Amino acid sequence: MIELSGVEKRYDGHTALAGVDLSVARGAFVALVGASGSGKTTLLKIINRLVAPDAGQVRIAGEAADAGPPHLLRRRIGYVFQEVGLFPHFTVAENIAVTPRLLGWSAERIDTRVRDLLDLVALPQEMAGRAPDALSGGQRQRVGVARALAAEPAIMLLDEPFGALDPLTRDALGDDYRALHERLSLTTVMVTHDMAEAVLLADRIVVMRAGAVVADGAPGELMAGAADPDVRALLETPRRQAERLRERLAEARA
Ligand code: ADP
Ligand code: MG
Repeated sequence: MIELSGVEKRYDGHTALAGVDLSVARGAFVALVGASGSGKTTLLKIINRLVAPDAGQVRIAGEAADAGPPHLLRRRIGYVFQEVGLFPHFTVAENIAVTPRLLGWSAERIDTRVRDLLDLVALPQEMAGRAPDALSGGQRQRVGVARALAAEPAIMLLDEPFGALDPLTRDALGDDYRALHERLSLTTVMVTHDMAEAVLLADRIVVMRAGAVVADGAPGELMAGAADPDVRALLETPRRQAERLRERLAEARA
């Protein structure tokens, strides 16, 4: 579904991506993890042409990503930004309708779609007329997901979508998004810095370091056998945390 080969990107001589090969099958749920600055956001932006690579190829559903106009590509690829980026002076409904409006849909079709999308992301219909700043952080993220889904994309790219949320909201949103992924038969690439989230939600984890992919596999596979000790340590964090938590809880009960 998504194929990157030899993708490179430099900013003023600084290498953001140093030759990335990555192939994501239709229906896959991939978590992209790695330290801050390792190139995760640049990789997502290259997939939907918000950033142009200096070298290498990107293919979407078998076609070169740069074969047609970017807006046609972006209609097939929903993107949830790291900082949500809702338009503050637009209502929730207007934010969700941005892409349908660009595509010239009728007002009636847009209204129906907005109502369906609010249901899909489990937001009450009465929120349609609110401004983004009258929502909680979790509700804003749901609007971001609804907006990205508006034109029925087959692919979703999410950049640390739940990063700024409290743990309970984050868990609920992660689970809800995973259910949407199944229900809509999406292909998802989600950037996260939370290893527990990656292990719980994704079928496959891709680890980046300094602009390169250093590990790639199913969560269990990587935890058991990643060649790189740093990657193994990273994958082990959720288990270590769970063990410490269990010890603390046992102490508290004793
Ligand atoms: P991540 O999302 O993993 O934190 P990024 O893809 O945002 O990493 O950035 C990778 C590297 O490229 C970083 O060193 C970052 O500073 C640099 N970079 C990203 N975007 C730009 C830009 N627009 N101009 C200059 N440098 C950039
Ligand atoms: Mg980033």
